[in-house]
Amino acid sequence: MICHNFKSALPELLLDPAASTNAAVREHLKSCPACNEEFQSLQATLALLDSWEAPEPSPYFDQKLAVRLREEQALPPAGWFERLRTRLLFNTDRQFRPVVAGALALIFLIAGGTFADLSGFPHPAKAPVSATVNDLQTLDKNDQALQTMSMLLQDDGSPNDDFAAPPRS
Ligand SMILES: [Zn+2]
Repeated sequence: MICHNFKSALPELLLDPAASTNAAVREHLKSCPACNEEFQSLQATLALLDSWEAPEPSPYFDQKLAVRLREEQALPPAGWFERLRTRLLFNTDRQFRPVVAGALALIFLIAGGTFADLSGFPHPAKAPVSATVNDLQTLDKNDQALQTMSMLLQDDGSPNDDFAAPPRS
């Protein structure tokens, strides 16, 4: 057995040192000081982790959590856009973001912009429209108005030049 093979067999050896499938690995340990040292240090690390105990939560944890829950329940429900934004902002799992982006794109494609409840939690049918949604709608309207204006201006351009020119005499 060579050292490269030993490294791939190391996890199994650590989990079950006495297993019969590890006989060749144990033989290699006897003849190779470098691998033996690595095995010993990993074993010491695992032993240390086994002895570690998670600290107890604060004695008031449950009460504080219950108070926070009641506060959140008393608040008016947030719109789906705000809930989604909060999720994207405060979710620490980086892999979650592309998943949400992909799911969102799919939902918008399928639903064509109809109401999408992304939380899965029941909530009152009438969620107040958030300020963010209002702003986005206003921006969208402005954008449409600007596009219409620029189209009108373009129409006033080249095709009508003949009418604007003074009549030849
Ligand atoms: Zn070795």
